[in-house]
Amino acid sequence: MLISPSVDEIRKDLFQSLHRLVIKVGTKILVGDDNAPSWDQLNHLVAQLSLLHDEGYAVVLVTSGAVGVGMSTLGYTTRPKELPEKQACAAIGQIRLMHMYSESFAKRGKTVAQILLSGDDFRDRTRFNNIRKTVGTLLEKRVIPIINENDTITTEEIKVGDNDKLSADVAQFLEADLLIILSDEDGLFTKNPKSFPDAEAISVVPRITAEILKLAEEKPGSKVSVGGMKAKLLAIRQATEAGTPAVLTRGHGARLLDLVKGKSLGTLFLPNPDKIGRNKRWLAFVSKARGQLFLDEGGVKAMRTRKSSLLPAGIRDCKGTFKTGDFVEICSQDGDVIGRGRSAYSSAEVHLIRGHKSGRIAELLNRKGPDEVIHRDQLVIF
Ligand code: GLU
Repeated sequence: MLISPSVDEIRKDLFQSLHRLVIKVGTKILVGDDNAPSWDQLNHLVAQLSLLHDEGYAVVLVTSGAVGVGMSTLGYTTRPKELPEKQACAAIGQIRLMHMYSESFAKRGKTVAQILLSGDDFRDRTRFNNIRKTVGTLLEKRVIPIINENDTITTEEIKVGDNDKLSADVAQFLEADLLIILSDEDGLFTKNPKSFPDAEAISVVPRITAEILKLAEEKPGSKVSVGGMKAKLLAIRQATEAGTPAVLTRGHGARLLDLVKGKSLGTLFLPNPDKIGRNKRWLAFVSKARGQLFLDEGGVKAMRTRKSSLLPAGIRDCKGTFKTGDFVEICSQDGDVIGRGRSAYSSAEVHLIRGHKSGRIAELLNRKGPDEVIHRDQLVIF
């Protein structure tokens, strides 16, 4: 069975605490039929990414298009076969592409940075750590890193391969919360939608199995290269197996903010639950919160800035009936949900200890218990 029954709920829960997003865009999304770069298409993409950035998400773009844009500049109508020619195209196209991104983002007040990688950068620990730190610093400074393979110098032996794979590598090393692959199709279908009108869109894929991979191979008559979808599924498998969920959706006219807010767009690929980081695992699949803990203004501020555990002293009020270990929402006094976590105490106990110092817990409950109502490892502030 490919389609999960509670798609919307899974999507909402999974996307509730997204922060770091890796978005991969293919050449076809950026260029017209003549391979000339399209300002309209690029501006649309940049507008969408800027909306995400404005909302506070950390946005990392993995872009193709260097070879395609270079080809149109040099007058090639088909992709050159010789490596030096392809690399010459990339050298020309990459700068043109970055110029366009930089200009378009600047109009929206955003700064971008270019990062060109090769397969070796992921294999060498020192280089890998350097890139991670550099990208981390850029994100802290709210810059949008734009990543491509360093096509001009990479040879077969040191190549990542394709940019789908590159985006999975990037998502993995950045421990991204979501990988979005923008393609020229709406998502994954049960058959090739271009050849079979009865093809059905698949909204959720719990795991990329051999059966799912076969869907990419069975595409008779498709003008889109078979390798295209296969490469995407392999990349998505890499990301999801490492614990990062992924969405495959159409790049033209994509509504990325709607998507990350949980709207059912494209195909969602669920992460392997065993591989999600300890702190995120429970968040990813948690269904309903059983209660709410209300904090005063100072408490909200402390949770947001210090990322500390939630102590009973900071809790003003408690609603709902929950047991030890249940998930609860953390709310401001006005009821805005600011986070989520697993309570170490039941609702009845929280009522007794709220507003008090942790040192008084044993006396108030007649039993010993942890100092914090929600330990920081069991807590996510949105
Ligand atoms: N890095 C290549 C480019 O910028 C694209 C590779 C790919 O799309 O997989 O043209």
